[in-house]
Amino acid sequence: VAAGAMIIGLSACSSGAGGGDSTSAAKGDGGLVGVAMPTKSSERWIQDGDAVKKQLEDAGYKVDLQYAEDDIPTQVSQIENMITKGAEALIVASIDGTTLTSVLQDAKDAKIPVIAYDRLIRDTENVDYYASFDNFKVGQQQAWSLLNGLGLTELDGTAKSGAPAGPFNIELFAGSPDDNNATFFFNGAMDVLQPYIDKKILVVGSGQTDFQQVATLRWDGEVAQSRMEDILTSTYSDGTKKVNGVLSPYDGLSRGIISALTDAGYTVGASWPIISGQDSELDSVKAINAGEQYATIFKDTRQLAKVAVDMATALLQGNTPETNNTKDYDNGKKVVPSFLLDSQIVVKDNIKEVLVDSGYWTEAEITG
Ligand code: BGC
Repeated sequence: VAAGAMIIGLSACSSGAGGGDSTSAAKGDGGLVGVAMPTKSSERWIQDGDAVKKQLEDAGYKVDLQYAEDDIPTQVSQIENMITKGAEALIVASIDGTTLTSVLQDAKDAKIPVIAYDRLIRDTENVDYYASFDNFKVGQQQAWSLLNGLGLTELDGTAKSGAPAGPFNIELFAGSPDDNNATFFFNGAMDVLQPYIDKKILVVGSGQTDFQQVATLRWDGEVAQSRMEDILTSTYSDGTKKVNGVLSPYDGLSRGIISALTDAGYTVGASWPIISGQDSELDSVKAINAGEQYATIFKDTRQLAKVAVDMATALLQGNTPETNNTKDYDNGKKVVPSFLLDSQIVVKDNIKEVLVDSGYWTEAEITG
């Protein structure tokens, strides 16, 4: 995360536009904010939606929270409805970051400010701010956790003295190609892994290393499972070698990868591969406890919700949102001023400290 928050100027947004009364919006008593989330099929977005809704309501706003079940036309029409209903601001976690250009022109015409939530909205001028995590760093953390599990580095990526020489067989997975974050995660991870691949300490057994080859449309766990099954059959079924590690960018993909490994006869224990993840989803935290998944990344959805809600309320009250990055997130039309949060690596040893002590999950949920 870039050091030091800085304040930047806001150009085209006016508060209270789009059907509300700016005086009441300024007090936060009753203006409507539209919140568009991608899907309920992943736990994290439910937590994001709940947190954003609660924080906006606590601040005195009404909320129209919608989930689109990963269907792009549904998300477009949900946002269209929010505009029609007089939403004064929009907070949008897109499904495909390139498909909202037309509906966001309508938002612009109605003078409704738009905040991209977690995922950058691309190819439009009409996104005012971006609330997210340092996504390149998330990818680096995923790679560091993989290297740590293989005994090569500390969790922060520092080389371990006396580390094994390898070679270790790994496979790579990336997220959905239409999600701007997926390339950031993959580029961050490859920034860390490539030197080890170049030195042949890591070997990608399948030879599939390009983003397009390893991407997983819609972050679908079943797609990851079947790609892993194919790789196990094509590359690892002659009994000469085993997979030692898998770079996975999301817990839902990790669970599919774990199923493929189990079905192929791998059992948890000495020769079970190191698998990364992201989101600290409950089932995956349990899988870490059980030794099936090595690590996940914790991105506190409560904090992200707070950043987005602070941005929206600042805009609605005629103030300038706080940002800490004005260079990294070019959406193809403009660099979108961003506030990026930090993420943390979670392994078995720090589950309690990171996830339970922060109140994200209870001990009972994790062990239950
Ligand atoms: C989010 C990740 C999430 C993934 C799949 C990404 O845009 O940043 O936290 O794992 O989508 O839902």
